[in-house]
Amino acid sequence: MIARALHLFTFITLLFCAFTPSANAQQAKIGFQWRSVELRGKAYIPLEQIKSFYQLQESKRKNQTLTLENRRTQIEITIGEQKIRINRATFYLSEPVIESADTIHLSALDLRSLIDPVMRPAKVARDQIFNTVVLDPGHGGKDRGSAKQEASLTLSLAEKTRELLVNQGYRVVMTRTEDQFVSLGERVRIAQAEANAILLSIHFNAGQKNTHGLETYIISAREPHPAAASSVTLATAVHSRSLLYLNDPMYGNQFQIVDRGIKHAKFSLLKGVSHPAILIEAGFLTHEEEAAKIHSEAYQNALAKSFVRGIEVYRASIQKKP
Ligand SMILES: [Zn+2]
Repeated sequence: MIARALHLFTFITLLFCAFTPSANAQQAKIGFQWRSVELRGKAYIPLEQIKSFYQLQESKRKNQTLTLENRRTQIEITIGEQKIRINRATFYLSEPVIESADTIHLSALDLRSLIDPVMRPAKVARDQIFNTVVLDPGHGGKDRGSAKQEASLTLSLAEKTRELLVNQGYRVVMTRTEDQFVSLGERVRIAQAEANAILLSIHFNAGQKNTHGLETYIISAREPHPAAASSVTLATAVHSRSLLYLNDPMYGNQFQIVDRGIKHAKFSLLKGVSHPAILIEAGFLTHEEEAAKIHSEAYQNALAKSFVRGIEVYRASIQKKP
């Protein structure tokens, strides 16, 4: 109970301190009072407060789904679901959306750890300036990955990404450059040897033969991590660019890759690396049609470009003056 109260206090303080006069002078002057309620044993924040803090307007309501908008963001919230859509990308929540006493509530944990870094990247992550990108092609050597050819495909995609990043002036460190076995511990060590860096771990997925789509993992919101908020911002930028570059004819491709969302996991790689870090599962090799797309140069080139663009967007957003 004490832990929860402290937790919430930190959350309130964090948001309060980060609120700047330029955003809304009147509100900043009087301060913003977050008031949580306890639902199903967890701290929840009523939607009215969230709307007011982020200056969101309700633009649509259909059955259980509510759409909120401000100048830059569109949010879709569905009562009872444990996911939310922000600017058309899916994010998995740690707690479900609850309606209580005719009011929609989001958990304080999700608001602090997920929604705030997406809504206000410059406020949350402005200290994490970097120039090094650690690329981690999954598997290799005796570890062939979870599906046929995963190890060689991750390396080829990482190499394409490296070339583009170097052209943009980034320093790139690879956890492997050949078809060799590198333990997870060694991958963490390589990434941790860099002072200011971000990490992209590249994988392809395996599952039931009908399962397909792209998903991105970040460290679990329940896991204390120094770069948790920055990782959310990085995941948002890379995940949404990946889907855009693969699917939007404006970017020259129509691969029709499904958005499986940004998800939390307790992967030891994400846990062990203290930099902003994400793990991308860039499609299913066990899905016949999707595997054919993944093997094409066009698919890999689009993904490599989208990773670089996502990294650029992330860097620009954290460098913005608050
Ligand atoms: Zn893998």
